[in-house]
Amino acid sequence: MTSNGGDNIKLSVIVSLFTWIQKTKTTPKKRLKFRKFLDAYVTTPSDAFATIRLLLPGLDRDRGSYGLKEHVLATCIIDGLGMARDSRDAVRLVNWRKGGGGGVGNFGVVAEEVLKTRLGSVSGGITVRELNQLLDRLASAENRGDKTSVLSELMRKTNAQEMKWIIMIILKDLKLGISEKSIFHEFHPDAEDLFNVTCDLKLVCEKLRDRSQRHKRQDIEVGKAVRPQLALRVNNATAAWKKFHGKQVVLECKFDGDRIQIHKNHSDTNFFSRNFLDHQEYSHGMSDIIAQNILAERCILDGEMLVWDTSANRFADFGSNQEIAKAAKEGLDSDRQLCYVAFDILYVGDTSVIHQSLTERHELLRKVVKPIKGREPCWSIVAHDVDEVEKFFKETVENRDEGIVLKDLGSKWEPSDRSGKWLKLKPDYVRAGSDLDVLIIGGYYGSGRRGGEVAQFLVGIADRPTANTHPRRFLSFCRVGTGLSDEELETVVTKLKPYFRKNDYPKNAPPSFYQVTNNSKERPDVWIESPEKSIILSITSDIRTISSEVFAAPYSLRFPRIDRVRYDKPWYECLDLESFVELVHSSNGS
Ligand code: ATP
Repeated sequence: MTSNGGDNIKLSVIVSLFTWIQKTKTTPKKRLKFRKFLDAYVTTPSDAFATIRLLLPGLDRDRGSYGLKEHVLATCIIDGLGMARDSRDAVRLVNWRKGGGGGVGNFGVVAEEVLKTRLGSVSGGITVRELNQLLDRLASAENRGDKTSVLSELMRKTNAQEMKWIIMIILKDLKLGISEKSIFHEFHPDAEDLFNVTCDLKLVCEKLRDRSQRHKRQDIEVGKAVRPQLALRVNNATAAWKKFHGKQVVLECKFDGDRIQIHKNHSDTNFFSRNFLDHQEYSHGMSDIIAQNILAERCILDGEMLVWDTSANRFADFGSNQEIAKAAKEGLDSDRQLCYVAFDILYVGDTSVIHQSLTERHELLRKVVKPIKGREPCWSIVAHDVDEVEKFFKETVENRDEGIVLKDLGSKWEPSDRSGKWLKLKPDYVRAGSDLDVLIIGGYYGSGRRGGEVAQFLVGIADRPTANTHPRRFLSFCRVGTGLSDEELETVVTKLKPYFRKNDYPKNAPPSFYQVTNNSKERPDVWIESPEKSIILSITSDIRTISSEVFAAPYSLRFPRIDRVRYDKPWYECLDLESFVELVHSSNGS
């Protein structure tokens, strides 16, 4: 395919299409707009690719990552336009989540307002091809200076509205209110299926030129990422058992790492994530293991990448994969090593096996993968009744695992399917032994619907000089936003509003009775002026605690959730550090 797609399509046409789709209320009408656009403007497969990659930017793997989130984009725009960093508009851009002006919580809209007077409203007249070339340059620019100069060029060649949409493309979130499924189906009835087994938009546009001609269902290939089979969530063991009525069921531990497909093709290996990115950083730590333990020359394995702690003889907590991959690359010795759990096999030799039953695939898996001695925890059993499901689930909860996955042993592996061939049962929000009554010490502004309003809280636990005294200090503990209804949240926010103090960090230090870290991830947008004015929240969480680097308390919680607001409890009855540490130790059995 030539790269000159979109030569005859002006960016202004795409902008009208996006604006129309966004304004239109119903899906059929949105689809109709897209259809009319395709009929009128798209004449070649390269035109199709040039435009669909703008419409579905999250699926485009032909361009590298831009490495630009809202904050950096704001700085690049400010510098690109030569604005003073402390000017009103520059501050608005940086504080796009906060109040003042329209578009709060939507960076693209705030940027459009700021750019209106600077870029004007007349279209710059660039084509989709030119835009794609500039976006290629933006993705390959190595440093912020180079990115700023590409953005400056884009701003010279566009108006404010065009720039808004370009920003939303860069952020990979167009907020059009039309699903990826609808876009694919309108383009071609087989587009979604083909994308699911290739993860390649360009190829989809090339192969599906004619909407009236159906495409033969394509099977998976080694070297091309496949969208993974997914699990449907169920609330309890009985519901799961009911769904699988009369079927043969296997129960597996739900490992808490990164879902990775290993594609082995002789000496070449890909490590595709759920977003079909190839994580070559795993190759250093894994190449010997793959050579010795995967006994087929060509195959695709489906599984989870984790870290094994050889001194503790167990999997390490979630979140250390990248660090360990880096250590392996640098040849550093460590007690922790990358460890891949292959729970399925999709391809062997020159044949796809996704159409075979899970029982047959498990047999193949046992032939192809040689387990590493000492790392074969009992992670899978065939269940005969609901009691066995309960028991296995309880064991994983006690073992502080992420939950269990139940699989129909007669089922095929289907790309991107979440219809219930696999079910997941997770122990979320089990009470952490006793109520965790924590104090609100700060607030974070929300985005979208709750833009400009506090939508999440930074909560703290007390540091008491001696038992039964009023606390003097509060240690930041975790960030929590879910669990309350809109009304309940609104009531808490209204009560606290008079005591909100804007956080102008780093200019101002936090109020002296709060102990926080220097980690920018925990900085709230507002502090509560004084603890005496604040409110206690009862929070629950997944039973696991995590060691905290982000917050001042030594532990934080995984998936915290507000259970209720404790208007009945005075501020000083907040959970204290000592009791919390005791609780963690007793629940860890140490
Ligand atoms: P979650 O946050 O619950 O992992 P998700 O949307 O990422 O949800 P789901 O398809 O709902 O993914 O749940 C399945 C995920 O669980 C897989 O993507 C995989 O990463 C993980 N997993 C861990 N162990 C297994 C297992 N034994 N079989 C299948 N998936 C497993």
